[in-house]
Amino acid sequence: MPANRLSSNLSRHGGWAKQRPAATMNDTKPYIPFHGAVMPEAMRADSKIQFRCYQGISCFNTCCRQADITLAPYDILRLKRRLGMSSTEFIRQYTVPFQMDGDGMPGVKLRTDETGTCLQLDGDNGCGVYSDRPTVCRYYPVALLALREKDSPEAKERYSLVKEAHCKGHAEPREISIADYRVEQGCEEYDARNREWYRLVLKKKSAGPSVGRPPRASLQLFFMASYDIDTCRRFVLSGNFRSTYQLPAEFYAEVKQGDEALLDFAFRFLRQVLFGERIVQEFADAWDRRVAQRKEVWDARKQMEIERSMAADDQKYTEGGDGYRA
Ligand code: SF4
Ligand code: SF4
Repeated sequence: MPANRLSSNLSRHGGWAKQRPAATMNDTKPYIPFHGAVMPEAMRADSKIQFRCYQGISCFNTCCRQADITLAPYDILRLKRRLGMSSTEFIRQYTVPFQMDGDGMPGVKLRTDETGTCLQLDGDNGCGVYSDRPTVCRYYPVALLALREKDSPEAKERYSLVKEAHCKGHAEPREISIADYRVEQGCEEYDARNREWYRLVLKKKSAGPSVGRPPRASLQLFFMASYDIDTCRRFVLSGNFRSTYQLPAEFYAEVKQGDEALLDFAFRFLRQVLFGERIVQEFADAWDRRVAQRKEVWDARKQMEIERSMAADDQKYTEGGDGYRA
């Protein structure tokens, strides 16, 4: 796509994509969405598409006025930096939450105004965050699919084409391979940063009932580690975390400054949280200390409950009402 121009998003065409983040939510066997504008054909990197988008095309900005854009973690990192705000503030101001699956896995989409226009659209100038636009905006009109064939441990990246009536780019006389289109749109950097996250979301989806619905605390952790990198940093740098996990001082120095290093770590940590993989070693006595801390809290709560109940009894028996007055 030409400079200062946008693309669109994979979920903009409705149907399945509204429920699935663009790149990840397919099943254990190849799944090709047949709904609406998505062409029912799994394409490879060397497949050719006919497409061109540029400022001045008759449909310029139309796609951004019907925006339904699912965000991946690296998208948020780039956008919050671009807009000069924390991830927490970005999420609050520019996103809306949704559930990625029936187990309540949290996802986020870019917020639009009441007409469906993306808040990042800069009037007739096109995308206001073009060089930091999200993955699905880069790919459009190509949809990235993660397919895992039965008995295959690895997901394969495949693509499909989205053809929507309002998008006139398909009528432009330019043929380009998907591989070249990805390079042109800067997709590889985004995919490389998000790939581990796509894998773990796909694994969660493929595992189905064998993993089951993660506890609420795990879903909260997934949200924080995936989308709210600045809160995740505070969590990782907290005394509690440091006293639980065996990580070298250089690691803490790196994640203190570097968003990318923290994101890489967060995805690995999520494998531990969601699938019980032993990725980050705990200190030998961490479990005992946690149990002891919890016991202290439980004991304190129990004591408070006893005192509250005794105080209520005292009040009942000394102030009358239905109680006994000495
Ligand atoms: S982020 Fe930019 S390219 Fe993507 S929908 Fe919004 S304005 Fe359009
Ligand atoms: S509708 Fe298609 S051709 Fe038109 S601006 Fe959007 S992506 Fe480009």
